Parts: sequence; C-alpha cells; structure tokens
Amino acid sequence: MKILEDRILQDGTILPGDVLKVDNFLNHQVDPQLMDQLGAEFARRFKNAGVTKVLTVESSGIAPAVMAALHLGVPMIFARKHKSLTLTDHLYTAKVYSYTKQGNNDISIDRRFLSADDNVLIIDDFLANGQAVQGLLDIAESAQIKVAGVGVVIEKRFQKGHQLVKDAGLPLVALASIAKFENGSVTFAQD
Ligand code: 5GP
Repeated sequence: MKILEDRILQDGTILPGDVLKVDNFLNHQVDPQLMDQLGAEFARRFKNAGVTKVLTVESSGIAPAVMAALHLGVPMIFARKHKSLTLTDHLYTAKVYSYTKQGNNDISIDRRFLSADDNVLIIDDFLANGQAVQGLLDIAESAQIKVAGVGVVIEKRFQKGHQLVKDAGLPLVALASIAKFENGSVTFAQD
C-alpha cells in the first residue's frame, strides 16, 4: 500500500537487529485514520473468505486488528500475554518467543470466545520470524477452528515468518513488504 510505504519512509527508523521503529503511527502513538485505511484494505482482501472473527496478540496488533474487524463486521479477540500461566483450564494457551523483547511469553485466549464453527483471520502489526502468528495458529489448532488467512501491516520478507505462513498453506496479505534494510534505508519488495 503506497500510503503505508510512504509513511514508513517518512517516519520509520531502523534500529540494530533489523528492527523497524514506527512508534509514531503504529507501535506507541497510533494514527487512527491510517489504521482505518489499513483495516479497510484487509477487509477488502479477505471479504470473500468467510471470516467470523479477527485474532491478534496484545498490544500492537490491536489497532489494525480492530479496524479490520470493524470493516469485516465481526468481533476482534486479542490474545493476552503473561509471563507464565498457572490456572489454564478455561484458556487456550501457546508459548511465543518475542522477537523484540528476546524472551518467552505465554499467550492465552479464553475458551468462551472461540467456537467450533469459527473461521479466523489472524492480524498482526509485524511479521518477522513468525512466532506470534505461530502461537495464534497453535491456539486455533487447539480450538479446532479454521484459519482464513494471515494479514500483517508490515512484513520483513527476509526473515522466516513469510515462508512459515506460506508453508502452512495460508493466504498471506502484507500491506507493506520490506525486502531489506541497507545503509539505514528501507527497500520494499516489488511484488
Ligand atoms: P515474530 O513473532 O514474527 O518474530 O515477530 C512479530 C512480533 O514482534 C510483532 O508482533 C512485533 O510486535 C514484533 N516485531 C518484530 N519485528 C519488529 C520490527 O521490526 N519492529 C517492531 N516495531 N516490532 C517488531
């Protein structure tokens, strides 16, 4: 999406470890108008996929996910992060290694919010090595529900997550796709 790529070029900064900082429109301060446009685009791309719910992980996935859900006319559920979980009977849980925090989190979704006939769209802010998406796929498998696809605001194509989603046989929509970081600048993938 041109508007998103322009915003990344204007406001993004590249941190050590191939981390793109976009905290003035996505990861800390949030631009609601841009989120609305991103949500509309996710909805347009998945409108025929029979999506019943949008799933994400707190916290940075929530803004684009809720806008996608609004435009699709379905609820949004965010998995909660915990340091470690004890009482888990009423929860679906998965372990996720955090790329930016370099540590493990348990993520969980209350069983009440997923039912056997659900077909979920997974949305996240970034796709890097795919651990957050894998955690949500693990939860979908435990809940025995279908996954319609994966939508991410920004993918770093050169990391493992892109292939992980493809290998799972799922449709992947990345609204901006970064091919590489080089000499402090961003190069977008051409397709
Ligand atoms: P993954 O699980 O795909 O390795 O990483 C996805 C999660 O890590 C995202 O939800 C996001 O919060 C964080 N993340 C990964 N790469 C970046 C990045 O380059 N910039 C920012 N701001 N967050 C990232």
